Amino acid sequence: MFLSVFEMFKIGIGPSSSHTMGPMLAANRFLQRLNLTGNLSSAKRVETTLHGSLAFTGRGHGTARAVILGLLGETPEALDPEVIQEMTDNVAVNKVLNLDGRYRIPFREERDIVFDFGVALPGHSNGMIIRGFDASGDVILEQTYYSIGGGFVVLAEELAARDDDKPLADVPYSFRTAAEMLGMGEQSEKSIAAMKFANEVAVKSKDIVVRDLDRIWSAMESCISRGLRKDGELPGGLKVKRRARKIRDSLVAEEQGSRNARLEHTVMDWLSLYALAVNEENAAGGRVVTAPTNGAAGIIPAVIKYYQDFCPGASKSGIHDFLLTASAIGGLIKYNASISGAEVGCQGEVGAASAMAAAGLAAVLGGTNAQIENAAEIALEHHLGMTCDPVGGLVQVPCIERNAMGAVKAVNAASLALRGDGSHIVPLDTAIETMRQTGMDMLSKYKETSEGGLAVNLTAC
Ligand code: SF4
Repeated sequence: MFLSVFEMFKIGIGPSSSHTMGPMLAANRFLQRLNLTGNLSSAKRVETTLHGSLAFTGRGHGTARAVILGLLGETPEALDPEVIQEMTDNVAVNKVLNLDGRYRIPFREERDIVFDFGVALPGHSNGMIIRGFDASGDVILEQTYYSIGGGFVVLAEELAARDDDKPLADVPYSFRTAAEMLGMGEQSEKSIAAMKFANEVAVKSKDIVVRDLDRIWSAMESCISRGLRKDGELPGGLKVKRRARKIRDSLVAEEQGSRNARLEHTVMDWLSLYALAVNEENAAGGRVVTAPTNGAAGIIPAVIKYYQDFCPGASKSGIHDFLLTASAIGGLIKYNASISGAEVGCQGEVGAASAMAAAGLAAVLGGTNAQIENAAEIALEHHLGMTCDPVGGLVQVPCIERNAMGAVKAVNAASLALRGDGSHIVPLDTAIETMRQTGMDMLSKYKETSEGGLAVNLTAC
């Protein structure tokens, strides 16, 4: 199994990796397929049907808008969040969509994007079918896509062909379990970050890997900075107010005004506000990095920023090691369970992100591989069973604050693990398998459908 650090951390836009980025990429892949089969210019209508969780929380997550942008030929990484409104307004007003930016077709959102609330498609709870029609109304291409979490999109046939029958990637440390990862580390005497780095440089040059790791951190850091500059209400109608900037301002004022030593626990406020800043940006549809998803995108940047600002000796290479280690843990969780809230609940998003961040922090604070694995396990274990119940189908409540809690738990888990010798009762593999089983047993109303939990008990204003 080899999942690149750059597949785990993808620069995109909010508010959701599975419901915004995934559908946009799927629509874009559909265009490529139309093009490859020589059908792009003959397509006169394109219809998208959203199923399962994509239908239930698609409105709050901006899924229709994402599909439109994908059909216009946009991708999450290249798209400027500032122009989204204008582009989608143009389509709505003119009732014309410029397919791949080249071919004008009639388009009416209420007709051409269908929210199907019936039975979900068989492969995954985030399914969508896209059909292209020619001038006579005949189907020229039909594809079923699944948005499987974290901005990963697969065709139905790719989903069916995945997993065990797939050959192992040609990289030196192709571990599929935490036990294999620890075994390879022991044999090679390499850290988890060093093994991941060796895997990356087997497919890309060292300079490019270093450059791209810097790009990822730079995008995360810019997201924190933007989130700390902005104020006001988030879109969507829940009237949720941004808090990150206010908390930062009050902390700064306290530090400047007080002669007394600050209370030690205020470090948690800093950690929390970094996470809030990212997730407020995400909720506003801004530029974010999947880590491993958009809904959980604040935890890893917050813990890295904590490392940078509060841990003596923090360095740029430490940030690289953090990202590499975190991606190793995220890869194990994705491969052996899921990072999709629609599949296993929030334990797979915030739980996974917290485990990844805990491992990253333990690594850069000098932890052994066993301590790093222990840190990830502690963080994941104490998110087991956490449901996904976003109020109003928006990635705001409980999501934004939940990232702050996930970041605090990550630091706590790393610290606990570093005070031990790496030996512990529950192996990370067992925690991951438990998460998978718990997710399978979880009722679908707790898996990104907004039909249970806080989503039904909190009356939206
Ligand atoms: S509750 Fe968790 S899994 Fe669900 S949308 Fe929010 S962050 Fe994602």
